[in-house]
Amino acid sequence: MIIDGTTRLAGVFGWPVSHSRSPRLHNYWLDLYRINGAYVPLPVHPDHFVAAVRALATLGFAGANVTLPHKEAAFGLCDAIEPSAARARAVNTLVFSADRGIVGSSSDGFGFLAALRAGAPLFDLRRLCAVLLGAGGAARAIAAALIEAGVGEIRIVNRSRERAKALAADLAFPVKVFDWAQGAAALENASLLVNTTSLGMKGEPPLELDLTLLPRTAVVNDIVYAPLETRLLGAARARGNGVIDGLGMLLHQARPGFRHWFGLDPEVTDSLRRHVAADLIAESERG
Ligand code: NDP
Repeated sequence: MIIDGTTRLAGVFGWPVSHSRSPRLHNYWLDLYRINGAYVPLPVHPDHFVAAVRALATLGFAGANVTLPHKEAAFGLCDAIEPSAARARAVNTLVFSADRGIVGSSSDGFGFLAALRAGAPLFDLRRLCAVLLGAGGAARAIAAALIEAGVGEIRIVNRSRERAKALAADLAFPVKVFDWAQGAAALENASLLVNTTSLGMKGEPPLELDLTLLPRTAVVNDIVYAPLETRLLGAARARGNGVIDGLGMLLHQARPGFRHWFGLDPEVTDSLRRHVAADLIAESERG
């Protein structure tokens, strides 16, 4: 890569940011499409986040991704909010626009649906019942995307009932809220099960869920991507369910930002999957 006076710049804000796969992912596409651009990690403490975003906009960057813990703060500082971010109440993509200022959007819902379509191309969400484990930021974006895609029923199972009820109220859609202990019962007649909790993630407790009542035709999606093969996916695959891991969502959610900053909708290919998965596997082997 040769950086010159016309190189387009973008990056990812996080604290810490060293775990982020986004630089690896975007720079893979920049190389592949021979685009004169660079994508860099931007480690910024929460106390300096707002000032850093405004400074980046004046430095000529095209925009940035935003990861933990800045997604809500990013929502608050934007000059304009796209509908995807208004629904998720969080921003993970910033575009610095000459006429609209700092524009925030959320690509998590887009990434989730694109990964689902790629992983289960024959699966038709319309009028079907989806069970979401979790009611955090990711669940919020995924629930909104499911509703937009025409899902018939959403059941939310969450440890904190209050948080699940708050999400259900915001969605303005018939949502059934289940206590965490009723998770197994919530699976009856469901067509899609999505784990959006952090359970099963490296360093977190495993997700324990009895799948007996889940129809074998249901698709099971775990958005946790470190590790790629979670205990939930292993158990679902063993009983014959179709499974989708969290890597697809991670890759697809990067596409809208790349398109805005670098002018092209990049493709999620098997070789990109291998490129990012190799990094995840190397990390899990390091322990
Ligand atoms: P949040 O912190 O907003 O939400 C965490 C969720 O996990 C909450 O529902 C929380 O329940 C639940 N939870 C945490 N610990 C426990 C526990 N011990 N028992 C039961 N429930 C628990 O996080 P996000 O929504 O941003 O992210 C959630 C997961 O999704 C993470 O693993 C993240 O890496 C992954 N993710 C993957 C993406 C991808 O592209 N593949 C994109 C975004 C996220 P409660 O409300 O009770 O606290």
